[in-house]
Amino acid sequence: MLPDTFSIQHTFINISSPSHTSHLIVGAGLAGCLLAWRLQQAGQRFLLLGSTAMPAAYKVAAGVINPVTGRWMTKTWNFDQLLPEAQATYHSLEQQFGIQVYHRIPEIRFCQNADDIKRLGRRLRNPRYQNVLNRYFAPGQAAPDFNDPHGSFGIEQAAYVDLPKLVTCLRTAFAQQGLFRDETFHHSALQQKADGWQYQDLHATKVIFCEGAAAIHNPWFPNIALQPAKGETLLCNSPTLQLPRKLYHHKKWLLPYPDGSFRIGATYDETDLSDTPTQTRKEELLAATHEALKESHTIQITAHLAGVRPSTLDSRPVIGVHPSQAGLYLINGLGSKGASTAPAMTQQLAHHLRTGTPIPPEVDIARFSLKPTL
Ligand SMILES: Cc1cc2nc3c(=O)[nH]c(=O)nc-3n(C[C@H](O)[C@H](O)[C@H](O)COP(=O)(O)OP(=O)(O)OC[C@H]3O[C@@H](n4cnc5c(N)ncnc54)[C@H](O)[C@@H]3O)c2cc1C
Repeated sequence: MLPDTFSIQHTFINISSPSHTSHLIVGAGLAGCLLAWRLQQAGQRFLLLGSTAMPAAYKVAAGVINPVTGRWMTKTWNFDQLLPEAQATYHSLEQQFGIQVYHRIPEIRFCQNADDIKRLGRRLRNPRYQNVLNRYFAPGQAAPDFNDPHGSFGIEQAAYVDLPKLVTCLRTAFAQQGLFRDETFHHSALQQKADGWQYQDLHATKVIFCEGAAAIHNPWFPNIALQPAKGETLLCNSPTLQLPRKLYHHKKWLLPYPDGSFRIGATYDETDLSDTPTQTRKEELLAATHEALKESHTIQITAHLAGVRPSTLDSRPVIGVHPSQAGLYLINGLGSKGASTAPAMTQQLAHHLRTGTPIPPEVDIARFSLKPTL
């Protein structure tokens, strides 16, 4: 087998004949593509295998990076560490591929009741929130197109990442180098050998699963505490609604794009885990939007998308090593925050794969007790 330190020119593999590689990456979504890119940057050999036809969360995600989230307006887990890594990663990718995927955008969040205003007051006095919260705006001050009887507040450092553009760009580049196979992976065909793992004509020292919500079917990691949650989102146009470019977070959020279109999102459902858009959720999104806006507007839907977020019970990512099967790894649990977490998590895993650097306990798979495996 070729050493890992071979340069990128030497990592081209002929995918039509039995191949040896160091890393077989399963799942070519956000996590899989970023991990492959990191390994390539480090001169490591890999083959990325994933199906472009299968459902994927990145295809429907708005890619929003939101520093303050949830009903309790809490600062996103590890935000101050994750954001610099995310910005550096997307900047590097933009430079390398001549694309723009990272867009900073001011965010306005509307208080829903008097308790929200009190909560905001506490947050504004909390030094931890100083770099992400702006100030309270009285009703009518910040966003005149919206109903805001309880006022609103500004959130700093929000952004959105064009995840479909990024993933497609990386996959295309890997395909051109013979490093991407567009196909469905079948777990039953993976066999352990004395010196690694065999999958059809491929031999790999390490197999890394980056399957998103489909990991619930992975027999090698039966208990990673995934709690997948379906989400639906609408891409829209309106002949009458022209909003200043901000991310507006009412009961649902509305994200205007430079071409005048906008996205409304997202619903949350832990029971229906299909990727089928539903009439009920469409109506829920439209109703919330009409309720949030002061005037009545005609909204034309250009796309209605649904996908499943790979969330975990403790809402933190999972990266790790299989406890008993040498050479099996996983990265998952990016939940509804893949745009901010994937850069740092793939960096952690890539370091671990190369140097054995310990995985931080708070994201280590070891925090969940694994059931007996195959
Ligand atoms: C409605 C919605 C809105 C969202 N909004 C945001 C947002 O605003 N901000 C944000 O940061 N995140 C958001 N997310 C979450 C974000 O999309 C995920 O965190 C991220 O995509 C997870 O990356 P992943 O690579 O783990 O999974 P995915 O992006 O789902 O990629 C997994 C890939 O593996 C492939 N795969 C799985 N099994 C196999 C197999 N057996 N064979 C071949 N291929 C396989 C899948 O087809 C897929 O391509 C949203 C998600 C949804 C559903």
